[in-house]
Amino acid sequence: MGATYLGERPLKLHFIPYPAPGHMIPLCDISTLFASSGHEVTIITTPSNAQILHKSIPPHRRLHLHTVPFPSNEVGLPEGIENLSAVSDLVNAAKVHQATALLRCPIEQFVEHHLPDCIIADFLFPWVDDVANKLNIPRLAFNGFSLFAVCAIDKLQSNNTNSEEYSSFIPNLPHPITLNATPPKILTEFMKPLLETELKSYGLIVNDFAELGGEEYIEHYEQTTGHKALDEKAERGPKSVVGADECMRWLNGKRVKSVVYICFGSMCHFQDKQLYEIASGMEASGHDFIWVVPEKKGKKEEKWLPKGFEERNAEKGMIIKGWAPQVVILGHPAIGAFLTHCGWNSTVEAVSAGVPMITWPVHDEQFYNEKLITEVSGIGVEVGAKEWSILGFGERKHLVPRNSIEKAVRRLMDGGDEALAIRRRTNHYSIMAARAVQEGGSSHTNFKALIHHLKLFRDRKSLHQ
Ligand code: UDP
Repeated sequence: MGATYLGERPLKLHFIPYPAPGHMIPLCDISTLFASSGHEVTIITTPSNAQILHKSIPPHRRLHLHTVPFPSNEVGLPEGIENLSAVSDLVNAAKVHQATALLRCPIEQFVEHHLPDCIIADFLFPWVDDVANKLNIPRLAFNGFSLFAVCAIDKLQSNNTNSEEYSSFIPNLPHPITLNATPPKILTEFMKPLLETELKSYGLIVNDFAELGGEEYIEHYEQTTGHKALDEKAERGPKSVVGADECMRWLNGKRVKSVVYICFGSMCHFQDKQLYEIASGMEASGHDFIWVVPEKKGKKEEKWLPKGFEERNAEKGMIIKGWAPQVVILGHPAIGAFLTHCGWNSTVEAVSAGVPMITWPVHDEQFYNEKLITEVSGIGVEVGAKEWSILGFGERKHLVPRNSIEKAVRRLMDGGDEALAIRRRTNHYSIMAARAVQEGGSSHTNFKALIHHLKLFRDRKSLHQ
């Protein structure tokens, strides 16, 4: 068999997404990209996550789902609770995570019987490293963080090895960064072995694009770790969500850039009194809004909304109780700003849509992303959040008060030189994001190079067998 013939053969790829929307959505988008490029893709997941994926991924003849049972009994979770978005406290979140370690056995058996050319797994599955080594298959780690956050966490760890508490100043990065809150030690320690295992992989895929935050972070990462970063800004379509048409109709009646979109991702659970502050701050700002609140807030409005709020704001505001069609909303010209928790997917979606951000980080690596948005890229303003919670659950000691919310919203939405400059920069990055995925763009080129590398690896291996 000639090498040319081998090289033309499509790749066989297994994807293992972590069961949380912020991890599943981008990795499945990337898997769709591979399938659309003619490669055979299998996503390995559990039954109730497969149901979510069936609804959200467009069918493709080269894209397959393989399910393995979720160990509900073993970890003590009710049947069907298989995703972090389905739990509302830390104890159950820990059980979901514990279950992902128990998936090793059935997944390993499947992989052994259906050997792929490469496994692409979330970095929260460190055991995939062992499985891939055992079977001599390259493993790519997928990390849903920005490369900026990955670099910052790495620096933070190496600079604070003996301290009781991590400091919020991060030295030795291309930009000197001081976070607005101190990273919880428990979170950084949890990440440490995962990021170390990630470095042993064949390469790292991030849902990023070289131009955001500057190519210097890709260079910085590759120089300081000796590891290859492959930035992949996936194109993503709207999720099939009830209410998308209604949102569009409502937005069609609004002026260009006049509406603030407010959403804190899939994992953030604010107390009623914090929601009350958001409502009051938005009302005081006088600007129109679409506000996404968790579904269970549907019943007792009086506790988390000021009296008469919905009647007074019937024209000005739309409250979505549950999952919103975020990408569609952000893409509407009436959206003028995004009050966001700085989840990395939300950040990339805002940048792609050219919407500046009002940053309100809550958990995980969001405090790093805030700095990338406001100080490194200059495409947002801070609301002043200072409390770093674990996974977005639990009581918070400090509320972000209504006047800080009003002030930050006005800073972007009332016009003025600063807001204009921020909008200009956001627009620039949005054009860059679109270019990155076009023929010849940075993400497109990286994608092609990655396929080339994986084929070479496979073909060399098969020639030596
Ligand atoms: N999302 C959405 N509708 C919602 C809430 C979230 O479509 O009502 C999507 C959002 O577009 C993004 C993902 O869920 O793709 C959230 O990921 P992100 O990394 O921003 O935050 P996380 O949920 O992981 O904290």
